[in-house]
Amino acid sequence: MLDRYGRNITYLRLSVTELCNLRCRYCMPEEGVCKKEHDEMLTEEEIVLAVETAAELGINKLRITGGEPLVKKNIVSICARTAAVPGIRELCMTTNGVLLPQLAVPLREAGVRRLNISLDTLDAEKYRFITRLGSLGDALRGIETALDAGFEKIKLNAVLIGGFNDDEIPALAELSRRYPLDVRFIELMPMYDSGDFGPEAFIPYKVVLEKLPELVEEAPDGGVAKLYRLPGAQGSIGLISPISAHFCSECNRIRLTADGKIKPCLHSGDEYSLKGKDFDGMVEELRCAILHKPSWHGALDASNRSRAGRNMNQIGG
Ligand code: SAM
Repeated sequence: MLDRYGRNITYLRLSVTELCNLRCRYCMPEEGVCKKEHDEMLTEEEIVLAVETAAELGINKLRITGGEPLVKKNIVSICARTAAVPGIRELCMTTNGVLLPQLAVPLREAGVRRLNISLDTLDAEKYRFITRLGSLGDALRGIETALDAGFEKIKLNAVLIGGFNDDEIPALAELSRRYPLDVRFIELMPMYDSGDFGPEAFIPYKVVLEKLPELVEEAPDGGVAKLYRLPGAQGSIGLISPISAHFCSECNRIRLTADGKIKPCLHSGDEYSLKGKDFDGMVEELRCAILHKPSWHGALDASNRSRAGRNMNQIGG
């Protein structure tokens, strides 16, 4: 379905829970989330109906996210059922990887084709600091299991944080040489309550180009990342720049939160509720959301925070 600016909306990012087994400082508050009532959240049936409805309107790519999608008890069933929806050509997932040792194979068998795994640092103490309670060993074991499980593509996502991991850009990028995976650096976005970081933390993607002068540019693959490769590397390096060079004119995505709100733009407070709706009701809300998708997300930096009205764990990234 085309929006008012001629963008063809084909990609739905579906958050299945706000809960997470980590507490990343840029993503959610230390105390976690105020757990919502069960009946405020989408049921598995509503999730499947929402995906069926979205597919009828032209969505063909689905990414399951969270919170942490792997803490959701029925995640394998949700993946299997949404992967089987007619029109959905590609089911992907974004995860912190910690529970992949148990779940990588069932997820692959359920139809998940691609995984993005978040990894901001290779230093165990820094990993514990940034996630507030995670263990680097668990995340690395998750990545190893995923590499063995036969996914079509694995990407590691690192959020660029000045003064925290800019010194690790070469080491993180090196993983694309050693393993068949892509490494993506994402500019830190100033969310509603991710306030631990001062202006120095918001570094532009160009810092990666300065730290890795040997990078060779590659043709875009239709996604939002600018693509490069280290000579001889198995995987690419992707640079995602929502702040310093936004890509809103190419944005083909909408988001569905775990409590059933369609967000036409990550950084806008506009939401359209699918909770409790039947197929026709969902069609109406989805159409409205797509037609009201803004042309861009507005200025974002340390002093202009996101107007999403939610933290990232309540949207899905
Ligand atoms: N728990 C999963 C994970 O860690 O990948 C999925 C949800 S998480 C919200 C999805 C992605 O959003 C992660 O790659 C995370 O690093 C990214 N993210 C969260 N907050 C962010 C922020 N303030 N700026 C940039 N990326 C952010």
